[in-house]
Amino acid sequence: MLALQGDYREHLAVLAELGARTVPVRRPSELAQVDGLVIPGGESTVMDKLSRQFDLAEPLVDAISAGLPVYGTCAGLIMLSNTVVDAIEGQQTLGGLDVVVRRNAFGSQVDSFETDLDIPALGEPPVHAVFIRAPIVESTGPSVDVLSALDDGRVVAVQQGPLLGTAFHPEITGDVRFHRYFLDRIIAA
Ligand code: GLN
Repeated sequence: MLALQGDYREHLAVLAELGARTVPVRRPSELAQVDGLVIPGGESTVMDKLSRQFDLAEPLVDAISAGLPVYGTCAGLIMLSNTVVDAIEGQQTLGGLDVVVRRNAFGSQVDSFETDLDIPALGEPPVHAVFIRAPIVESTGPSVDVLSALDDGRVVAVQQGPLLGTAFHPEITGDVRFHRYFLDRIIAA
């Protein structure tokens, strides 16, 4: 669990509930111990700065290139994206996911909202999704699978091999299916 900033405690609680052994990752030696990594929601600009200050950015990029399974929610999805629209000046991402995301894509009036999403990979019932100053996936490369989109077609959940990203926050709704999918269908696959 990347534990530099954001709501990593909520993710740790879900992962513990599912029986995963978790390591909060703040330094390269901790990153070296994990079979998979979750990057939480929070603020991507801060997470970016901290990852560089903690000398974690480069090891993270290397681990992702080497095929480490990573699940990013919201700011975590931004961190995993190759291209960010509306990034702040100098903002970098780890990359890996061949997508373009737009930060804060829902504007100030609908900063946060909730909706039910059909996600065929997770089956029934629909996933209750909470969006908090969320990004949207504006375009996807050929090797990216779209797992879910809003009714208007805007993409909010993607997978590219071992990389999983959601614009919303399953860690705060009590629905553990995304975390289980990551543990069982991606890390253990
Ligand atoms: N708007 C935040 C960012 O740009 C993401 C918000 C979130 O993670 N809930 O990083």
